[in-house]
Amino acid sequence: MSFFVVETALPLPLRRVFDYLPLADEPESAYRPGQRVRVEFGRQLLMGIVTGTRQHSEVPQNKLRPLLERLDDEPLIDDNGLALCRWLADYYHHSLGEVLEHMIPTMLRRGCALSEADELVWQATGNEPASPLRGAKQQALLQLFSDQPRWPHSALTAQGFSLAQLRRLQDAGVISESQQLPLPPLMLERQQFHTLNPQQQSALKTLSAELGHFRACLLEGVTGSGKTEVYLRLIEEAIQQGKQALVLVPEIGLTPQTVRRFQARFSVPVALLHSGLNDRERLQGWRQAREGGARILIGTRSAVFTPLPDLGLIIIDEEHDGSFKQQDGLRYSARDFALVRAHKAGVPIVLGSATPSLETLHNALSGKYLHVKLTQRAGNARPPGMKLHSILHQSLTAGFAQPVLAKMQQHLDNNKQVLVFINRRGFAPLLACRDCGWMAECRRCDARMTLHRMPPHLHCHHCDFQQGIPAICPQCGGSHVEGIGQGTERIEEQLAGLFPATTIRRVDRDTVRNKQAFDELYDDIHDDGSCILVGTQMLAKGHHFPDVTMVVILDADAGLFSSDFRGMEHSAQLICQVAGRAGREDSPGEVWIQTLYADHPQLNLLLDSGYHALALSLLQERQHQILPPYSHMALLRSECEDRIQAQQLLQEARAFMQNWLHQQHPNSRQAPVTLLGPFPAIMERRAGRFRFQLQLYANERKALHQLAHVLVQFLESHKGLHKVRWNLDIDPIDT
Ligand code: ADP
Ligand code: ZN
Ligand code: ZN
Repeated sequence: MSFFVVETALPLPLRRVFDYLPLADEPESAYRPGQRVRVEFGRQLLMGIVTGTRQHSEVPQNKLRPLLERLDDEPLIDDNGLALCRWLADYYHHSLGEVLEHMIPTMLRRGCALSEADELVWQATGNEPASPLRGAKQQALLQLFSDQPRWPHSALTAQGFSLAQLRRLQDAGVISESQQLPLPPLMLERQQFHTLNPQQQSALKTLSAELGHFRACLLEGVTGSGKTEVYLRLIEEAIQQGKQALVLVPEIGLTPQTVRRFQARFSVPVALLHSGLNDRERLQGWRQAREGGARILIGTRSAVFTPLPDLGLIIIDEEHDGSFKQQDGLRYSARDFALVRAHKAGVPIVLGSATPSLETLHNALSGKYLHVKLTQRAGNARPPGMKLHSILHQSLTAGFAQPVLAKMQQHLDNNKQVLVFINRRGFAPLLACRDCGWMAECRRCDARMTLHRMPPHLHCHHCDFQQGIPAICPQCGGSHVEGIGQGTERIEEQLAGLFPATTIRRVDRDTVRNKQAFDELYDDIHDDGSCILVGTQMLAKGHHFPDVTMVVILDADAGLFSSDFRGMEHSAQLICQVAGRAGREDSPGEVWIQTLYADHPQLNLLLDSGYHALALSLLQERQHQILPPYSHMALLRSECEDRIQAQQLLQEARAFMQNWLHQQHPNSRQAPVTLLGPFPAIMERRAGRFRFQLQLYANERKALHQLAHVLVQFLESHKGLHKVRWNLDIDPIDT
């Protein structure tokens, strides 16, 4: 047999592939890209993905090691999937092995067989029992199998039958066992589609003309304008054409309400992929999509990697949402990746939002994306009235202005619900001494500790460090140590005092720890009648509270003066989303925004003319300052317990890049990439590490990527400064 090596991508940060010798007696044809193999790397056992075979290797023959095991006959990742991963690895300058890891569910990463997702199913054979079956349980089982010949094992154990009882029927030849992939759930009770209003109809017509080829489309529609209805119709058309649809939603947007809404409309199986599932359920959803059993896949960020053989349509709901960007490891944007995927698959992609990101809006305005608008609320709902309420020189009760409290009372008296939004959990954002000015600060971060009352402790929201509350001031020994400012806990407590007859519900990460808790709370809120909801942005996203008619935004000012150039964009998106919770059905809603800066020009533009007008003005600013989307950006971050070293790595990186740029463009006055920094990060020290960043801006993507490519090589081979961790973030969303 002729010599060859198997090229393998390993889940390591190293940006290269590794050669291994094949298993003894296996021909080259046994190895195909996309198969999993087990290998030894140093002393670790790793699972790698075959990327190809070659007749020679740069590694000396006596250094080559054999593979330990080949796990798949058929490739687990097909050529399309591999091509997409290669694109991702190139674009984000990341290791291919780590990218490939994202493609497959955890169980498969650990080396499980695909069939681990299968379920034990019992099938009636139609034979008479070979031996007598007497017990009551046996009789009951016989009856079940005569009613319905196939039963998943779990459905029988749920009814109190044991494996031993089933085995007895099996021994008597009445039933036999088999394994199969469970089908995704199918709702039998189908809901009617709404009759679309004229705007929706025309949007649907425009979008459905794009089915069958690639086209990026922005569906810009105010909250409640019926975007989801348009998605549902479009999906229906794609499904009728024999296609699958992929729907991506933000992390906390995947409510049971959303899921029910999809499941109840279609008579095809819908699979789900989100963080609330266990590993086995994830594998099931992934396989249902990959094998075509599921025709619709709804999921959060990482669902974008799921193989879909008949992909015909991609929808990204709330495309501006930050949760589509992964903020550690492989820092990819699921939205941007989905665009590439749609392009390669030749299918349309619809980006929907009431408050599109400036990047997407820019692409729509420049004609690169098809731009479809919905300007009115669907059905009977009217847009909420929005009002800035100045609290300058006003005395506040529990953080609320008097007229705001009076209005809240009116809505409650009408048996409606009021939503109070404050993006700060805990009791108070600060614990301070009134005698000497001491403040409780985190030991490991440049940040204040948040005071929590339930249970009482100090908590750093940046590194999770927790400690007890000092009874006396550690600096002056005085006893006037108290919480300053307001968080959700305190507002909840104070509102309970102000509205003793009203139910107050707090919704933040402390009261709602998981998806299930949220679902339950959500049902409670629906049944509540008049009540006050106090919450963080958990309350803001995508949820439909039909009885909320008033929204109060307590701390809109926090985001207005952010040092991040995206600060105003993100604040405006959040304000619109929170405001969109008001008056979703027949009763009109109103939104009160308390602010110290009632004459803030951008805030006024937002309220008077809406998000789109503000976005246009922000785009102009960006154009003047040559910021994204008018330039392309990457961020090199470093962190280290030693401040000097963290900074030094970036200084060396900068010197290297300057030198390289100069060599490439010796005669040009302006290099194609501008370097800024290194600067300390906004919070310089976090969890005991000092953090720095270096910003790279370029007018042309190509120039940025060429530089990033050599930069990563430089950093990988950099010697010394071993303790410094670094990462390169392409198209960062927080700077
Ligand atoms: P969006 O996704 O833009 O926020 P939805 O699609 O969720 O809007 O629609 C908002 C509300 O209006 C939902 O309760 C939906 O059932 C209802 N709705 C949507 N389209 C129509 C329509 N054509 N007629 C009546 N009600 C509609
Ligand atoms: Zn003190
Ligand atoms: Zn901390």
